[in-house]
Amino acid sequence: MKKISFLILITILSILMLSLNAFSKVDVVTTFTTLKSITEDIGGDKVSVTSLARWNEDPHFVEARPSFILKLRSADLLVINGADLESWSKSLIENSRNNKIMPGGTGYIDASSGVYLLEKPYGRVDRSQGDVHPFGNPHYWLDPQNAKIIAQNIYNGLVRVDSSNRSYYLNRLQYFKRRCDAITNIVRRMFTGISNKKIIAYHKTWIYFTRRFGISEMGYIEPKPGVSPSVTHLYRIMNIIRSEKIKIILQAHYYAAGSALKVSQNTKTRFLRLQTNVGGNISNYFLLIYYLGQQISQGLK
Ligand SMILES: [Zn+2]
Repeated sequence: MKKISFLILITILSILMLSLNAFSKVDVVTTFTTLKSITEDIGGDKVSVTSLARWNEDPHFVEARPSFILKLRSADLLVINGADLESWSKSLIENSRNNKIMPGGTGYIDASSGVYLLEKPYGRVDRSQGDVHPFGNPHYWLDPQNAKIIAQNIYNGLVRVDSSNRSYYLNRLQYFKRRCDAITNIVRRMFTGISNKKIIAYHKTWIYFTRRFGISEMGYIEPKPGVSPSVTHLYRIMNIIRSEKIKIILQAHYYAAGSALKVSQNTKTRFLRLQTNVGGNISNYFLLIYYLGQQISQGLK
């Protein structure tokens, strides 16, 4: 009798363990919010995702908070943008002592893997004078065609750690890719019929977006990514604005208005400070791309 009740107890416990397992989610940490949003699009209700950076922080310079290490320590998956954007995250990942999410680990996802990086330097990498893009331009997520590659990399990582839900993730990946094509077409239409599609940007934040939609970047307020402009450089930019009849100066919202605002006032150019990541009123990747398309195309009219 005792043996039978023991067996019943073991059976009940195993059923309980199995059902708990079915409800446990893959614990994912991403460096910033757009990667969080795309991970949720692919992972659905099988994942629980945390972003280290807030949506309104400069992804080049995120201030580490004590909670970061704890989040990384318990993560099954880590998604980083890569291309040296998050140099601030390297020591945090090491200090988490979580082997799964170290480079080369099963839970490590570099979202840039397979992305064609623009402005890649030839020869020696030069960080002198504070260039923050020494390995090429890392802002590739603003091209919806690159978002397909990001989503594919996230899918691959999810399948590595949770293969039992492969078909669930695959359906969502395919849907995500179709939406990337749809938003590309929608935004492309926003720019048709606009004759002068030339802009000035503060930082080289937009090159993947502008290249995709046929907008020409004629100059930058920063002489090099991350480097403040001299007065001579600002005069050069103002001359370009006048000669090319440029209507807008684009700047990511997390930079102080400063010199870009002054240039826009001196040249009577529109100054657009726009969001570059999902967050605030923009709740997913497609709304982010739609918002950028609308703001920039309206600014050029
Ligand atoms: Zn940058």
